[in-house]
Amino acid sequence: MKQYFSNIKDAVVTTAIGFGVTFRHLFTRSVTLQYPDERWDIPERSRMRLHMDWEDCIGCYKCARACPVDCIHITTTKVPKDFDQLGETKNGTSKRLLVEQFDIDMSECMYCALCVYPCPEDCLYMTREYEFSVYDRDELIYDFALVPEQLKEDAYEAIEEEKQRKEEARRRKKAEREAKKAREAEDSDNSDEEE
Ligand code: SF4
Ligand code: SF4
Repeated sequence: MKQYFSNIKDAVVTTAIGFGVTFRHLFTRSVTLQYPDERWDIPERSRMRLHMDWEDCIGCYKCARACPVDCIHITTTKVPKDFDQLGETKNGTSKRLLVEQFDIDMSECMYCALCVYPCPEDCLYMTREYEFSVYDRDELIYDFALVPEQLKEDAYEAIEEEKQRKEEARRRKKAEREAKKAREAEDSDNSDEEE
């Protein structure tokens, strides 16, 4: 019986303590928000999701080399010197490589921003986007190399043409070398006969 009344007393006291805490907080500033209807202001230099402007990327790999967890994957293709369709970056740098793949796996990224600082074209940066949860981890691999299909076709065509030009020049030089050798051999035979 004694235990029974002791339990009732504990219940009343602990409830009163709980209500006391609640009552005190009625007059203090709220520390929570009604997310997602309300949101905190994001600090100016926050590190959130990365973004890359493909048009300004020169494929220098500086960002990928700086990444401590290797979550940036780049593939580039060298185009011929006279192929001018890649244009220039916003900083006026002439683009010489076709950046065919530029993936960032945000599921591995640790938001250190070490990739951002070495970028010579300022085309890789942290956005203020932090709501990008997904059900499938593969969806966290962001593909920024949105290469127009026509540009890719033209670049491959130019590469193939250059290859053929080089092969032709190589064959021509070889034929010239052989002809020269043959002429020299003939001259040497003629001079032997004259003697
Ligand atoms: S923020 Fe850090 S971890 Fe993420 S891609 Fe850049 S260098 Fe790699
Ligand atoms: S450092 Fe900048 S320009 Fe170089 S590959 Fe990375 S994003 Fe492109």
